[in-house]
Amino acid sequence: MNLSGKVALVTGSSRGIGRAVALELARRGAAVAVNYAGNAAAAEETATAVRDTGARAMVVRADVAVQEQVDSMVRSVMDEYGRLDILVNNAGVTRDNLLPRLREEDWDTVLNINLKGAYNCSRAVMRPMLKAKWGRIINISSVVGLTGNPGQANYAASKAGLLGLTKSVAQEMGSRNITVNAVAPGYIETEMTALLPNENKDALLSRVALRRLGKPDEVASAVAFLASEEAGYITGQVIVVDGGMVM
Ligand code: NAP
Repeated sequence: MNLSGKVALVTGSSRGIGRAVALELARRGAAVAVNYAGNAAAAEETATAVRDTGARAMVVRADVAVQEQVDSMVRSVMDEYGRLDILVNNAGVTRDNLLPRLREEDWDTVLNINLKGAYNCSRAVMRPMLKAKWGRIINISSVVGLTGNPGQANYAASKAGLLGLTKSVAQEMGSRNITVNAVAPGYIETEMTALLPNENKDALLSRVALRRLGKPDEVASAVAFLASEEAGYITGQVIVVDGGMVM
């Protein structure tokens, strides 16, 4: 599954799953554009780790929720590398609360970053992918988008929305040799899940067949497969990487 000669943009790759994805694509030979929103030092660390694999890296700041910033990010990648083959829509946030207490601004923030961000980025990469007659878009959803979760109406709606986006764009772009798939992680050890109280973690683990949290690398492997030539006849699909929590 060699990605030499390909260029990947991974949103939210300063930390967590995005960083693991950036590194896995780099190990397979892709040049990687590392996107972040606020944590420049962490993004530089990811870029250094990408270069340590021997791959090329650049760092691009953009809030994925803002179309102009996304357009300018994609222009920078095109200026630097002259192509853009793989987009991983990974940037995501949570603002959890039960519906009666869920503030409108927390609804908007989560939907704007998690779902509109993917729309903004997917639109922005269409031109280079259509021109190359080759493209891979991989949206990082969540098992919560399949099952729902109390306290996460905004997050679950954004992640379920990503599945609708995935399947629709897959149908639109199939004839142009652009595949669009989603990966739905379960509970993965990152800063996003580090704050979960221990009793919640134990309750969660009792529902996971493999009885452990997942690692960012385990999500990255699925993403790298979907980005590969070998996955060229797979589109509109959701790969669940959750240790057997949702079956
Ligand atoms: P994380 O450790 O909190 O990292 C989030 C990343 O998103 C950071 O790189 C952050 O950049 C970036 N980001 C946040 N807002 C952004 C914006 N407006 N524009 C661009 N980048 C932005 O999260 P994670 O756990 O790795 O999660 C990554 C993805 O996997 C998310 O979509 C999440 O919903 C999904 N997921 C995670 C789990 C899990 O268990 N961890 C499970 C299912 C799905 P800065 O560093 O600049 O803030």
